[in-house]
Amino acid sequence: MTTTFVIIGGGPAGNTAATYAARMGAQVTVVERDVVGGAAHLWDCIPSKTMIATGGAMSFVRRSTGMGLEQSAAVIDTEALTSRIEHIKSHLQHGTTRLLTSQGVRLVRGVARFVSPDEVEVETVDGTTRLRFDSALVATGSRPRIPDWCTPDGDRILTTRDCYPPKVFPESVTVIGSGVTGVEFVHMFSSFGAKVTLVVSRQQVLPGKDPEVAAVLEDDFLTRGVQLLKGARATAIDRDDDGVGVIVRCDDGRVVHSTHAVLAIGSVPNSDGLGLDIAGVEVDAGGYITIDHNCVTSVPTIYAAGDVSGKLPLSSVASMQGRKVAERLMGVHAREHRHLDYDKAASAIFTEPEIADVGLAEAEAFSSGRKIRVTKVPFSAAPKALINNDPRGFVKIISDPATGVVLGGSIVGRHAAELISVIALAVTANLKVSDIVESLLVHPALSEALAEAAE
Ligand SMILES: Cc1cc2nc3c(=O)[nH]c(=O)nc-3n(C[C@H](O)[C@H](O)[C@H](O)COP(=O)(O)OP(=O)(O)OC[C@H]3O[C@@H](n4cnc5c(N)ncnc54)[C@H](O)[C@@H]3O)c2cc1C
Repeated sequence: MTTTFVIIGGGPAGNTAATYAARMGAQVTVVERDVVGGAAHLWDCIPSKTMIATGGAMSFVRRSTGMGLEQSAAVIDTEALTSRIEHIKSHLQHGTTRLLTSQGVRLVRGVARFVSPDEVEVETVDGTTRLRFDSALVATGSRPRIPDWCTPDGDRILTTRDCYPPKVFPESVTVIGSGVTGVEFVHMFSSFGAKVTLVVSRQQVLPGKDPEVAAVLEDDFLTRGVQLLKGARATAIDRDDDGVGVIVRCDDGRVVHSTHAVLAIGSVPNSDGLGLDIAGVEVDAGGYITIDHNCVTSVPTIYAAGDVSGKLPLSSVASMQGRKVAERLMGVHAREHRHLDYDKAASAIFTEPEIADVGLAEAEAFSSGRKIRVTKVPFSAAPKALINNDPRGFVKIISDPATGVVLGGSIVGRHAAELISVIALAVTANLKVSDIVESLLVHPALSEALAEAAE
């Protein structure tokens, strides 16, 4: 008998689960209130990285003196940048929609909520309809966290979602929050020439990351003239008396004036209003749906994946969870299904230089007392980094001293997000440092630093 699978949310988690489940023979319906592709396409990964790419091109031009070029100033064309973002978004959205429909997935535009443990109700523009299911997946994502001490107005006091398409480029901006999203916004706005202040609640940007990695980024920020307010927590953001700027107040008495402020203090799950209690699906204190290692919720026929499941808030992780849900649903788990190991997820921060890491971190190993071997090579030792006129950063590989198995690594430098794939593959496949050393790599290429770090 064909399995009826209803998915709420068409972001990376939902659309990947839909594609794989349909391919394996399930009858799949995706309910999406907005657009297929989800927040990842609309506001998060795609527009932010598109803007960062343009900002990167600008700062590349600025850094190009010394490469045999006369320095020339790049000028932003806001209209062209906006239409580029829209073009990329719509290209990806159409591609995803085509992929889903070509697999026979039914798309329903509307807002879904559970009305029983085996039925959802969908509010569409044409009225209300009900869908019965054998299995369901909640893949409703998350939204920016808004604290009770400020009210974003979409004009001067912004969440990350108010920044695209760029209506104007801020003259000066205060970014609140120095996690991954916060530092990417600092990088983006400062690349476009804004005067940026970053409110950092701890003593280091990217709290929790390797201090050596954070230090390279802080150096770049300081070189760009970014002001770092360390050890400060924002407690209020208000429009100034003229209404043309904002005032950010911090708990230590410091006050920052700028034309705009951007909140980047994390996200909250889209688990409210879904009727989860009616279906019997449990959530934790933060509203995240609790799942087991197979993404199964407290109701055996209902899965949750992506940001709403409170694991790693990454598009790549959401997609992989979606894939694993489809495999388990269709019985692949009995044969070759491998559980998702969140500790082996690679992640990147699209700053300049880029930062990427995977697997075991040095600090984590030291605090658990695990013996590790750490090898580090600066990019300044790689001919290609010198040719690129960008010798910043390093490659660090962490391995098991007894077996040589690669346990993790971090890369700071140009193309780190691409280069980390080599270490990610090694970590996932339990490869040894010698496997990397013996790979015949390209010369001159940045990957040579990887081989050297593996020596
Ligand atoms: C600024 C920013 C940049 C980011 N950049 C990256 C990056 O570079 N790389 C990366 O890996 N991750 C990045 N992320 C994280 C990434 O965007 C998320 O992890 C990813 O979008 C999660 O996918 P998802 O499928 O869980 O949810 P989403 O992409 O949020 O999709 C959920 C979908 O569910 C729909 N929905 C919600 N409720 C209902 C309902 N009741 N009925 C019907 N539909 C509903 C929503 O409309 C939405 O389309 C970024 C995040 C931010 C904030």
